[in-house]
Amino acid sequence: MILDTSKLDSVQLRCQVCIVGSGAAGITLALELGNQKLDVVLVTGGGYEQSDSNRRLHEGSADPQGSHEPLEQYRHRAFGGATKRWGGRLVPFDAIDMEHRPFMPLSGWPIPYPEVADRYPRAMTVCETVPDEFRQSSDSLRFDLPDTFGDGVIETTTRERWSMPTDFGVRYREPLAGSNHVRVLIDYHAVDLRLSEERDRLDSIPLISRKGRPLQVFADVFILATGGIENARLLLASRSQIAAGVGNQYDMVGRCYMSHISGSYGFVRLKSAKRQKPSFYRLAKDPQGVYSRRRFRLSDGAQRDLKVANVIGFPMRPEISDPRHGDAVLSFLYLREILSRNHRGGPPSWKMLARHGSNFVFNSPLAWISVAKQLWLRSRRPRLPFILPYNSQAQDALYFQAEHAPNPDSRLLLGSEVDEFGMPRIQARVRFSEIDRLTVTEFYRQLDRGLRTAELGFLEYGEAGLEEYLERITSRFDSFSHHLGTTRMSANPRSGVVDPDCKVHSIGNLYVSGGSVFPTSGHANPTLTILALALRLADDLISQFRQPIAVTTGTSFLPERHVAGSIASNS
Ligand SMILES: Cc1cc2nc3c(=O)[nH]c(=O)nc-3n(C[C@H](O)[C@H](O)[C@H](O)COP(=O)(O)OP(=O)(O)OC[C@H]3O[C@@H](n4cnc5c(N)ncnc54)[C@H](O)[C@@H]3O)c2cc1C
Repeated sequence: MILDTSKLDSVQLRCQVCIVGSGAAGITLALELGNQKLDVVLVTGGGYEQSDSNRRLHEGSADPQGSHEPLEQYRHRAFGGATKRWGGRLVPFDAIDMEHRPFMPLSGWPIPYPEVADRYPRAMTVCETVPDEFRQSSDSLRFDLPDTFGDGVIETTTRERWSMPTDFGVRYREPLAGSNHVRVLIDYHAVDLRLSEERDRLDSIPLISRKGRPLQVFADVFILATGGIENARLLLASRSQIAAGVGNQYDMVGRCYMSHISGSYGFVRLKSAKRQKPSFYRLAKDPQGVYSRRRFRLSDGAQRDLKVANVIGFPMRPEISDPRHGDAVLSFLYLREILSRNHRGGPPSWKMLARHGSNFVFNSPLAWISVAKQLWLRSRRPRLPFILPYNSQAQDALYFQAEHAPNPDSRLLLGSEVDEFGMPRIQARVRFSEIDRLTVTEFYRQLDRGLRTAELGFLEYGEAGLEEYLERITSRFDSFSHHLGTTRMSANPRSGVVDPDCKVHSIGNLYVSGGSVFPTSGHANPTLTILALALRLADDLISQFRQPIAVTTGTSFLPERHVAGSIASNS
């Protein structure tokens, strides 16, 4: 149910599980736990849409200035979180992503790959996507590229699939409103974490709202699901009892901040583009009616041999800002972008605007039919993932997305400014390592070599230009909303914040959900894995609550019926 706090007779709420954050992770956890009749309070930190005042709560700074996108840019303090705007691209982690790789310090997840991978089908269902394999052989396609080339260095069989994309706030509002077991607090914000006297358990979370009186939630178990940046911020800012913040005894909260290194550079020249392009580029629906696409990927063996991280690429529309593409559809997209408030570059010159303008005038009127058709497909469910040029012969840029290796110097810290509720704002210091640069440059080298030796085509690019491009995009970094690693999972408390169960190492009943627990980032967009881990946490908590009589020590605030099923103290 959606809780009407004006009707509450107490400022204290009691429950079995308190989840802070109503994004993909928080909503999935609440549904799973509520379905098993656990008594859940879900704290939304925002309304059904994001207000300006709530957006400002996410503002922060970057060191050096301008080295990171504005911290409020992609985040959504609202019911549904970032899924209110996400693209819906579903990409699994590969098994190698979770292995210890001797050439990548701090690599290796402390849990086996199947613990996550076995939950991908359920995670796809949560995203309203029919589960299916993420591999596809060329045999099943009219397709001219082999499954591997370049002596097995490049693979073409892995693919990504798309969600509707599901706005979790819209899709799951009714089920949560109708639930007898989940109480949803709209526009209440967590501002602190209060520990027990022994400081080994979380006691309660104080909440603030602009619309109602402050509340305090007491629970057997707490889960932070406030997104990859806010999870770390909440732990670091909770300094009233421990000066370094909660869970930060080894100074690991906020460290190893990762994202992905992605961009478009150079051109893919395929020999018979007409037959080779379709399943990479023209997004087609698979037999399940789901948009999907194959990619070039550096094989596991090549990653090990070359001592680089994971990386994929695919032909993509050229940079829309460069009018030399000559395409009316792309110029339309660019003009639309510069009019939006998220545009980061400066205003274009008159000369550039004129060239974009001439793309309209001199393109075929059929280009406008193409724009109209694609915009229409963008309004459908499932939504066309993105708009492509009218001119299918337009040069294809190579888009790449590479792993960002864990680096303790890449971190989030508390800045000196505070938000409206007195919470210190975040300062982001994103940093990169040599392996990050090497991964992308080797990928280009190997893909070019592979295409040439297999006589499939080639990449048109220059090594020096690529290095310059990497320097530019990493010094003015855009995370495209992938905020990972800041409360990383580790077996040893000295190298992470949460244990393999996603429980904060030093705190008996505080769990974290979201991309912040990823020990390494892979190349994959994170949400499918965030959901798989949220489902895993829900499964673990449900089985723990089902264990007979495991009463928490000391005070329990739960009503009688809940105490018998309370979770065992981990402390
Ligand atoms: C434009 C865009 C495109 C994207 N495309 C893709 C894609 O194609 N594929 C993909 O995998 N991922 C994509 N993402 C990323 C994806 O949306 C996120 O990975 C995912 O939504 C994160 O879910 P989450 O639940 O961990 O966190 P969030 O969605 O960030 O949710 C956090 C929740 O916590 C709440 N909250 C925050 N602070 C507090 C507080 N102090 N108190 C109470 N509540 C609080 C917020 O209100 C929100 O409800 C995209 C994101 C954007 C913005």
